Amino acid sequence: MNTTTDETIVPALSRPELLRQSAYVGGTWLDVGEGPSIIVRNPATGDAIGSVPALDAETVRTAVSHAAHAFQEWRRVPAKQRARVLRAWHDKVIAHIDDLALILTTEQGKTLSEARGEIQYAASFIEWFAEEAKRINGDILPAAADGNRILVLKQPVGVCAAVTPWNFPAAMVTRKVAPALAAGCTVVLKPASATPFTALALAVLGEDAGIPPGVFNIVTGSARQIGDELCQNPLVRKLTFTGSTEVGRELMAKSATTIKKVSMELGGNAPFIVFDDANIPDAVAGAMFSKFRNSGQTCVCTNRILVQASVYDAFCHQFEHAVSKLRVGPGIADGIDQGPLIDAAAVAHLNELVADAEALGATVTVGGKSHSLGGNFFMPTVVRDVAPEMRLFREEAFGPIAPIVRFDTEEEGIALANDTEYGLAGYFFASRMDRVVRVFEALETGMVGINTGAISSEVVPFGGIKASGIGREGSKYGINDYLEIKAGVLAGAF
Ligand code: NAP
Repeated sequence: MNTTTDETIVPALSRPELLRQSAYVGGTWLDVGEGPSIIVRNPATGDAIGSVPALDAETVRTAVSHAAHAFQEWRRVPAKQRARVLRAWHDKVIAHIDDLALILTTEQGKTLSEARGEIQYAASFIEWFAEEAKRINGDILPAAADGNRILVLKQPVGVCAAVTPWNFPAAMVTRKVAPALAAGCTVVLKPASATPFTALALAVLGEDAGIPPGVFNIVTGSARQIGDELCQNPLVRKLTFTGSTEVGRELMAKSATTIKKVSMELGGNAPFIVFDDANIPDAVAGAMFSKFRNSGQTCVCTNRILVQASVYDAFCHQFEHAVSKLRVGPGIADGIDQGPLIDAAAVAHLNELVADAEALGATVTVGGKSHSLGGNFFMPTVVRDVAPEMRLFREEAFGPIAPIVRFDTEEEGIALANDTEYGLAGYFFASRMDRVVRVFEALETGMVGINTGAISSEVVPFGGIKASGIGREGSKYGINDYLEIKAGVLAGAF
């Protein structure tokens, strides 16, 4: 057990009680005590920030029971009132943006300005679904038989289990919890073990905003044990997961026994295509944003840059110049562009990918190794002349490495882009309208950035195809994943 809190973070918070070393079950904070716990570390320093309890399966089951009990009340709360509670939660999140950003940077590593951006992004989902809560409309359909009417009713799915990753510790939580609560569902959330404190701080603010006990629960501890309980418990009617494809597959299979509705936001291998009619400075700016945001640790991060031969050198020179200027350091420090990676395994993975590419003939032109700061820091990296047989082309790097691939024709560029099991995000830069339409339609991804590297907002239907997932989050479509459609055939009423 370790209950020591980071000496530097708590005094810096304007509201220190936002840092909770607890789980949250049925409206009760289960503080870390004598039982098993998980230590949470600052990835920039390796120091312990604090601990959360490692709950046993029985306590997870209790959380599900609380959520099932609370569902019977929450589903009946008028939509307008659910919307008010969500709106109040949004306002409290924005009011505490500095504290939340500090907690987020301390446990996750991203720069403070990116952390503030993530809190705003996270809050935007709460605001959006506060508005959508009031617009869950049914339908009345003309029936085949004279005198009959068909009624279509949308009802909340029930208890939702949500499992989230460490790369967006706030936004991945609200992108699930806000639509669930708006729809009238209740939630049991398992945040990533590396970053539970942001989720817990959001729950403190949710409690302040009037989310009733049992409507939003947070369980911490062994991923496998919690995952098994959530998947096998018949009271859980939906599983929403964001994380790796490998774990998503496993959770889908386990959920099959209880036939749950599932949403899967999984890994990506985003192509970023620069065609010969692209505006090259714009393409460089787009690639910088989509590659190096969050130290390359986003699911929609550019993973392969495909550049048409006639603009290959021009793009590479400008891009390499921009990458060499990135400033690396602790996310908490001023003037930093790139923080640490989440852990030592992530650094080792990147070193392996570079070694494999070099062995197969690629050339490192910027960075290429662990940063001199040591620990979890890795140099912003560019690797030229990457080819499909290299791991850098096939695997999600999830780090600050930009592999560049040369191609000749438009058809070849599209074929390379689609040559992956993943299909989350894709980007391309081109100016000819016929090409823009052709490439947009041909890319096998759920989202496409056209002459932009920034695609995420609460308005965009976010999600992937192929091995990148099932379902959409955010947008006017996102609430559907938390609703069931019930049909009523009404006879003899007319
Ligand atoms: P991960 O290893 O799959 O973990 C994600 C979550 O699943 C964590 O809460 C983790 O818990 C939990 N988990 C791990 N193994 C489990 C098991 N056997 N049973 C139940 N739960 C389990 O992914 P990550 O490393 O945190 O996140 C990076 C991945 O997420 C990347 O592939 C990225 O592309 C993807 N991602 C996708 C989206 C999207 O919207 N499509 C968004 C963000 C990230 P512990 O932390 O306790 O291990």
